[in-house]
Amino acid sequence: MAMPLFHDGLMVHTQSHDYPIVITENSAIKNNSMAKQIAPYIGGRQVLIVTNDTVSPLYLKVLEEELTEQFTVKVCVLPDGEQYKNQTSINQIYDTLMAAHFNRDVTLIALGGGVVGDMTGFAAASFMRGVNFIQIPTTLLSQVDSSVGGKTGINHAQGKNMIGAFWQPQMVLADMSTLKTLPARELSAGLAEVIKYALIMDADFLTWLEANLPAMMALDLAILGEAVKRCCQYKADIVAQDERESGVRALLNFGHTFGHVIETHEGYGNWLHGEAVAAGMVQAAELSQKLGWLTVEEVVRIKRILTLANLPITPPSIDVQTALSLMGHDKKVKHGQIRLILLKSLGEAVLTNDFDAELLTEVLSQHSA
Ligand code: NAD
Ligand code: MG
Repeated sequence: MAMPLFHDGLMVHTQSHDYPIVITENSAIKNNSMAKQIAPYIGGRQVLIVTNDTVSPLYLKVLEEELTEQFTVKVCVLPDGEQYKNQTSINQIYDTLMAAHFNRDVTLIALGGGVVGDMTGFAAASFMRGVNFIQIPTTLLSQVDSSVGGKTGINHAQGKNMIGAFWQPQMVLADMSTLKTLPARELSAGLAEVIKYALIMDADFLTWLEANLPAMMALDLAILGEAVKRCCQYKADIVAQDERESGVRALLNFGHTFGHVIETHEGYGNWLHGEAVAAGMVQAAELSQKLGWLTVEEVVRIKRILTLANLPITPPSIDVQTALSLMGHDKKVKHGQIRLILLKSLGEAVLTNDFDAELLTEVLSQHSA
């Protein structure tokens, strides 16, 4: 049997339990073996794989076949897309579980990107007051971000991720080979979150990325695995300190308040989340520079790495008042004051409302009509 070329990982420590993130390659091919890696983390005999109609033709068959040797396996294939991250899809998962007469011993397996992961996690958190689940993230974004840390949920017609629960998986299996089928634009969107970790946590990682980003984009799986491991470690460290986002976990939203304005204004889906975050990080960096915390050269350096990742660095033209009011609807507002995550230096972020509103307006009007 061929062994994976690359096999590495780390542990995530949370209040409910500790769990491993396994980083591997080529596990989706027969005998190599996604099923064997996750089987030890499946408690009972019942398994429900949740995936979507884009990912299922790529990675479902071998996983399902090999799990069936050991478990009673059902599959729920949801339609692909953020617009289906809703209660209707959750009901489809419950319906499959009920029809199979599965009980509290079931383990749900999320096979797909962040949309599938968030929904599967939420279904697991709520079915019979909580059952086990495992994440097999197949996008770069879900490998470095959404599969780690236990935030699960769905959208409400009035807002993204409005309904959900904190619910930790039993394990995460991130297979770098799955990134080979991911559209390049989705890979870049994931790179925005990778670059985010460097900017908020570790200037050395930024230097590492400047050297290794081309290899990542050329799908060098060992380098991708190294980057995913580092990002998961940053997120795991933050989650261990602040699982429920009452403090330091908020720093992971760097670029997201500005990005949220872009996503809302442009309509979800036209800008990918990672693209909006990229342009948003530039705006946050520009404000940090106006406050004297970053140099002009450092802002240029941020723009350069984002450009290297094929990400936008300029937001669309949005009227300043519109932008400010959209920011007001973001979760990061406390007592009417906009709080933003800004950079004290490269690799160090703060959540603050201690800035001149005039400077924020300046940053926003740089790109307004
Ligand atoms: P996604 O799940 O929509 O995946 C992007 C696209 O790639 C989809 O069309 C998907 O079907 C496809 N795809 C997935 N894997 C593939 C593969 N290996 N090959 C080819 N195509 C593949 O998007 P995403 O960027 O992975 O996740 C975004 C979601 O994650 C959002 O709903 C967001 O709210 C959520 N999120 C959650 C957290 C969290 O902490 N829970 C954090 C960040 C983002
Ligand atoms: Mg994000």
